[in-house]
Amino acid sequence: METSDMLIIGGGCAGLSAGMYAARLGLKTVLFAELPGGLITTTHVVENWPGIISTTGPDLGMNLWEHAKVSGVVMKSEVIQSVEKQGDVFVAKSRRNEYQGKTIVFATGSKHKHLGAPGEEEFANKGVSYCALCDGAFFKEKIVCIVGGGDSAAKEALFLAQHATKVYLIVRKDVLRAEPANLKLIEQEPKIEILFGEEVAEILGGESVEKIRLKSGKELAMQGVFVAIGQIPLTELAVPLGVELSTKGEIKINRHSETNIAGVYACGDCTDTEFKQAITGSAEGVTAAYFGFSYVKGSSGF
Ligand code: NDP
Repeated sequence: METSDMLIIGGGCAGLSAGMYAARLGLKTVLFAELPGGLITTTHVVENWPGIISTTGPDLGMNLWEHAKVSGVVMKSEVIQSVEKQGDVFVAKSRRNEYQGKTIVFATGSKHKHLGAPGEEEFANKGVSYCALCDGAFFKEKIVCIVGGGDSAAKEALFLAQHATKVYLIVRKDVLRAEPANLKLIEQEPKIEILFGEEVAEILGGESVEKIRLKSGKELAMQGVFVAIGQIPLTELAVPLGVELSTKGEIKINRHSETNIAGVYACGDCTDTEFKQAITGSAEGVTAAYFGFSYVKGSSGF
């Protein structure tokens, strides 16, 4: 079996940036991706990618994908199920194939947290959604809510207001922790009503969602419930290698995007970086490529 220089698991901003740089540094690089472009492709408008004043998530994701591809990364739409070390090489196994690499980069991202409220699983795809961009257009002229108090919830509320007649933003604390630019847009959007200090107790309906009950006892009629309450890092593939995780289950990295295991790197939403943005994940990917290159060449740089 041929041994690549670098295996990258994940095709989001972080993994694709790592791939593009690794290939440009001359490393034989294979990248595995389930969703080309990753989570950013489910974001509506992106206005904080330096140098691009405004673009869409799908456009940014697909441009990063193309950039990695034309740089020479071998793209595989295979799901890696396990990773192990055999001698000096890392072996990544999908259902059908095995791949060997001198280095490995985890850019595995995260998955959406669920509320755990009664009715949430029952009405999944029947009014309950974790992606406003994907499903928002189904709620034209309808009433919806978005649950969460971070920047994702704020951005999704703004997107949903383009379709729905009314958007409740349900925040469990008494503050919405969103970018000031998004907070300003929310203040200017009459369709959005923020309910502070409230949590969803139950989602109710028949064939699909009809209303929610809040922990305060209040009931609100609506057809859509969008959940944006944060992410769970996807790091289980790294554990058998002995990679150290934070208490939140994120892969611990240093300023070289190195983990505690030589030859193993991580970048993006699966890491313990505090400020997680598309651009920070991308930068961590580029850093992983550079120090992976140094590791492969047995040098401290170019
Ligand atoms: P955050 O972790 O920032 O926020 C999650 C929110 O959901 C918090 O307000 C939290 O409340 C609330 N929450 C958690 N669990 C529940 C629950 N069970 N019921 C009700 N509310 C709950 O997640 P985001 O997805 O908003 O952001 C994740 C990361 O992605 C951040 O680092 C953010 O900066 C980044 N991001 C980057 C973007 C970009 O690159 N442009 C765009 C959007 C996000 P509490 O505060 O009470 O815990």
